[in-house]
Amino acid sequence: MTIKRLLYSFILFVLFFGFASFSEAQEQEHGNHVLVDSYYIDGSGSKTIGEIMGLPDYVWEEVHGEHPSFGYDLNTYWFKLSLDAGSDTRLIHVRYPLLDALDIYFIRAERVVGQDMLGDRYPFNAREIPHEEFVVPIPGSQAVTVYFRVQTESSVTLPLSIWEQDEFHAAQGVPQLLYGIYFGVLICMVVYNLFGYAMTREPTFLSYSFYVIFVGLMVSALSGAGFRYIWPELTWIQDRAIPLFGSLCFAFAALFISQLLDVKTYSRTYYRGLWTTGIVALLIGAASVIAGYALTIKLLLIFAIVACVFIIWMALSMWRRGLVYARVFTLAWSAFLLAVVLNSLAYLGVLDAQFIQRYAIMAGSGIEVLLLSWVLTLRYSEERSQKMSAQEEALRQAADAQESQRKLNEELEEHVAERTFELEMALRELQEVNNELERKNSEDGLTGLYNRRHFDRQLTAEFRRAWRNKESVALIMLDIDYFKPVNDEYGHMIGDQILVALAARLKKAVRRSGDTVCRYGGEEFAIILANTEESEAQQVASNIGSVVRDDKFQTDAGELAITVSMGVCVASPGLFEVPEQLLQAADEALYGAKNRGRDQTVVARPEIKIDE
Ligand code: GH3
Ligand code: MG
Ligand code: MG
Repeated sequence: MTIKRLLYSFILFVLFFGFASFSEAQEQEHGNHVLVDSYYIDGSGSKTIGEIMGLPDYVWEEVHGEHPSFGYDLNTYWFKLSLDAGSDTRLIHVRYPLLDALDIYFIRAERVVGQDMLGDRYPFNAREIPHEEFVVPIPGSQAVTVYFRVQTESSVTLPLSIWEQDEFHAAQGVPQLLYGIYFGVLICMVVYNLFGYAMTREPTFLSYSFYVIFVGLMVSALSGAGFRYIWPELTWIQDRAIPLFGSLCFAFAALFISQLLDVKTYSRTYYRGLWTTGIVALLIGAASVIAGYALTIKLLLIFAIVACVFIIWMALSMWRRGLVYARVFTLAWSAFLLAVVLNSLAYLGVLDAQFIQRYAIMAGSGIEVLLLSWVLTLRYSEERSQKMSAQEEALRQAADAQESQRKLNEELEEHVAERTFELEMALRELQEVNNELERKNSEDGLTGLYNRRHFDRQLTAEFRRAWRNKESVALIMLDIDYFKPVNDEYGHMIGDQILVALAARLKKAVRRSGDTVCRYGGEEFAIILANTEESEAQQVASNIGSVVRDDKFQTDAGELAITVSMGVCVASPGLFEVPEQLLQAADEALYGAKNRGRDQTVVARPEIKIDE
């Protein structure tokens, strides 16, 4: 890919140079290159043709080289050329387009037989023969002396050719074709990169396009094609086209390069250097609008060489540090630098080569434009593939993150479920332990009946429920008769055995679900009978009395008989305010039973009635 590109550029420019050389050769062959006889410098600049014709021969100086070339000089130059007789269809061709004022006088027998006022101070359309350079017909076929008056802010030079009219027109094909190729390439580059910008919004494409536009304008100014085709009426532009477009070309080059090579992140020093280059270029551009061409063209030429050297230096250092495109970039600018240097030397009059003046900048800038476009495409495609792989990487990472998040969530859920289960288990165990504790708390250790603590709570609860349901609740208080003597006689162990056995008999005798048998304390027991009327309670008490009385108790000390006394009280709805009253009444009834001789049941019938 890269080699192919280089090859294409190379072939294109071999072709270009081939055509250029061919065109030059054709000119050499058909266009008779002629050298003026002599020149005279008119310091005042005000001499007329009459005064010049009257000058003595010795003030005229001989011209050396292929054609006269004096570099930048604001003086007025006069050149003299004697032509022999020939056909009457001859043309004089001045092969240099940038002269500001070129007056040509044809003299025969001391008389002016023809006069042409040329130069780019006059609009292009004033020219008799339209051509980028200056072409005028020679009047008549006899021998003639031609005087040229040249006054210009560009370099003073007068390369001349004499043509037969038809041969001249025939020879124009090749140079026009060269312009066509060159500007064609440039226009393609501009259109291609503007499309690139429209598609990608990558600013480098835009700055490059502007850069190429100004390269094209500058070269069209240098070749005269701009004046012919683009601004034929605008002598004001023609006057300053080269420094103006040249400096804008460098300003956009600085912008383009800083974007292309990303100089800012690469080196602050080079970045500042590029900024300076751009600003100086703009200043020269501004100066070219205000000041004259003579000053600004010199500034631009010096600046161009310095700027090119700086840019190549920068490119080389980037190349050394391994920047991929710096190599091609260096090549591109070297081509341009070479062209600028050669051209500058030619224009300054140091180097005398028409061919270079005509084609160096075109070839150099053409190579450069192509190579830079290549660098731009390279960089863009590389950046895009980098972006794409970065995007893929980001996507992959996002997917990974999502996956690990999902796993984490799953693990977390599992963990939570596990912990919840454990917690539930622990809670259940705790509940069981609690229940056990609660049970133990309300149990009497010796008999396994409910204890006094439970009795208190149960009595309150049943009392309230009875109150709410407008039911009766009965309470039996029971005490063993003459138990102290039993203990005294057989010991507490035996007494305890009787207590345990009695508890079993009580439990057996009271089996309704709403009934609760408790050990009230010592050898006293309490039985709560929920939702029970007096007759039923009496029945229960009498039943208890007989199960105790009828069978003796098995103890380690043999069979022993005991009896019990009971006090019964029934709390009818609204009879008592608080459960303690019921308890007290039952207790009193028990005392009553004791007093009446024991082994019997007394039913309390309290008088206390509370208002409802
Ligand atoms: P009465 O009730 O008929 O008036 O006569 P009593 O001998 O039962 O008299 P009292 O109720 O005043 O005496 C209770 C006796 O019960 C005292 C104690 O020797 C005995 N006693 C109390 N608690 C226990 C106990 O947990 N185990 C044993 N073995 N005896 C107890
Ligand atoms: Mg007692
Ligand atoms: Mg007793």
